[in-house]
Amino acid sequence: MKRTRVLRTVLLPLLTAVLLVGCGRPGSPPVKGPQPEDLPVYQVATDFRLPDSRTWERARKRGRLVVGVKEDQPYLGEKDPAAGRYSGFDIEIAKMMAASLGFRPEQIEFKTIASANRETALQNGQIDYYVGTYTINDNRKKQVGFAGPYFMAGQSLLVRRDEKDIKGPDDLAGKKVCSAAGSTPYQRLQREYPKAVLVAYDTYSICVDNLLTYQVDAVSTDDSILLGYAAKVPEELKVVGTPFSKEPYGIGVPRGDDALRFALDDALAAHERNGDWKKAYEATLGLSGVPAPTPPPIDRYPTS
Ligand code: GLU
Repeated sequence: MKRTRVLRTVLLPLLTAVLLVGCGRPGSPPVKGPQPEDLPVYQVATDFRLPDSRTWERARKRGRLVVGVKEDQPYLGEKDPAAGRYSGFDIEIAKMMAASLGFRPEQIEFKTIASANRETALQNGQIDYYVGTYTINDNRKKQVGFAGPYFMAGQSLLVRRDEKDIKGPDDLAGKKVCSAAGSTPYQRLQREYPKAVLVAYDTYSICVDNLLTYQVDAVSTDDSILLGYAAKVPEELKVVGTPFSKEPYGIGVPRGDDALRFALDDALAAHERNGDWKKAYEATLGLSGVPAPTPPPIDRYPTS
């Protein structure tokens, strides 16, 4: 069988199984996913009130929070298809925030929203807030609000392990590079590396499937996301080069709901102080191999 066929018929179904079930391929040690017993339990605020936030009031009447997340990003936001459970660092941040707003974990409904649909989901009230590798920038601030940042990532490149030519973004001329529609990495490639041949999908996991089957030469997005895919199949994939952007992750809120935005800034500061943030990181994103960094300073920007 040709190598491409081997990948398509043998390895791809295995990768899919690994990504979906979170366990190793036969004969190799199981890939460790977040273990429920390692995750912190966040203290749920009692008697919390936020009458100035229409989002919070709506959630209180409903009796639960609706939180937008990703479902295919290892160690960040991942959905176990069998149990329907979400796990990862972004999911933990979402739970910390919920606890501070007075909601128990079972009162959170997670909703998968792709990169390109985040602003509309927040604008038309489909979700109360969003936690999913969401870069804060001025353009997006015109459409939504951001609490945080709670993490600093940087754009990077994922290639097949046998790739020799691509070592950084300057090697992308004439190469097929996949990223998610509506993402900042996609926009940066378009703007700053116009010789790359861009391919866009809704999600990065589709890009990774395309990489493994030789449909594209590289996947580009945040290092935090790519390291997770590489950690799941290290014999097939590697992250190359040094990060070439700054991607501060924020919690997206409806624009204008500054009461909610500031409450989440306060909540984040409290969970960073009491050790929850670090414990959550170590039990999730830390599993892709990078020790816990110091969280970036919270940018409590003024109401506009
Ligand atoms: N952080 C980048 C963004 O917000 C890339 C990751 C993503 O698409 O969620 O666009």
